[in-house]
Amino acid sequence: MEPATQARLSQLRGNAPAKRHNARTVAALTGNPGCARRAVLDAAGIDKNALAAQVGFPAKFGQSQFAITRGNSFEAQVKANGYAQLVRMLRETLGLDIEEVGSKDLETVGGNESQELRHIRARQALQAAVEGREPLTFLDHPLLRLDVGGNNVYLEPDLVAFHHDGVLHVVEIKSFAIIDDQADGSKVAAAARQSAVYVLALRRLLGDDRVSHDVVLVCPKDFSNQPTAVKIDVRKQLIILDHQLTRLARIESLVELLPPGVSLDLATHTREELLTTLATMEARYEPSCLNSCEMAYLCRHEAAGCTSALGATVREELGGVETVARALELAAGRAVPSVEENDAAAMLRNTARIYGSVAPA
Ligand code: SF4
Repeated sequence: MEPATQARLSQLRGNAPAKRHNARTVAALTGNPGCARRAVLDAAGIDKNALAAQVGFPAKFGQSQFAITRGNSFEAQVKANGYAQLVRMLRETLGLDIEEVGSKDLETVGGNESQELRHIRARQALQAAVEGREPLTFLDHPLLRLDVGGNNVYLEPDLVAFHHDGVLHVVEIKSFAIIDDQADGSKVAAAARQSAVYVLALRRLLGDDRVSHDVVLVCPKDFSNQPTAVKIDVRKQLIILDHQLTRLARIESLVELLPPGVSLDLATHTREELLTTLATMEARYEPSCLNSCEMAYLCRHEAAGCTSALGATVREELGGVETVARALELAAGRAVPSVEENDAAAMLRNTARIYGSVAPA
């Protein structure tokens, strides 16, 4: 990233420490690649949770403290005794003959927390493992790096990389249950998207043939704390992720559009000032934002009455009709459509006729 862009983003964030990306935030970012507001806030490392709360539209998702604690204790259990349970599950799930288990935890580097140093150390360990220079089976918490909109972001390493015969597999440990071989589809899909972020970052570091598209998801089995593992093919998620990342606008061009000197420092700005600054960043609200972005309630409030806020399908079908009020007028035949509105108006009148004729009197 250009130093000037870096300086503008840092000014925008103010004195607050930068929030780091993780696989979930990168996966969510690619879910709405056209949103300039999110791209700028994330590139600046702004705490969107705190910002949304300060402007009066707090986010309503995220893990409870209970779920976080439960997740941490399940993860510790899976990794206990030199990864013994994990080795057994990987043998069964991937059908591999795993004999020796060497591991390295890359969470910290001799007390030095520099991200660059941690990333270099992770890269060296991963390369040494796949090239057979070090007998490492598990590499825990490797800090990875990925280009997001022209900005190299570090991914907080909620990851275990499993190495066998020169190939790495991503292992995701999650605390939602697999009951009777079934799990919540939306949670599995989210885990697959996050794993794909890790696979992509690892492939860009080591090469495509060094990182498998089969990831291993480890979850509690039924209603017990007993772990079970399933294999997930993330090729589809990889294609989408790669495509969406290349579509993300270059962060430089978005930062250039910001008025000079603006800041979102929560400690020094009023709610009104924060809202004024946010209004300079174009949002592209869609219903899926409610599950993936902390700013969703503010953006939904701003987009109220716009047809685009009803989702991509409605936006496409009502192309040219900007507001719900206008759509209702066209449907009722109370307004003359413009040339751009002609197709949508005909469809709206037809729909109104059909539903009007079958509606009970
Ligand atoms: S909630 Fe707002 S900022 Fe977040 S992705 Fe959606 S439109 Fe963009």
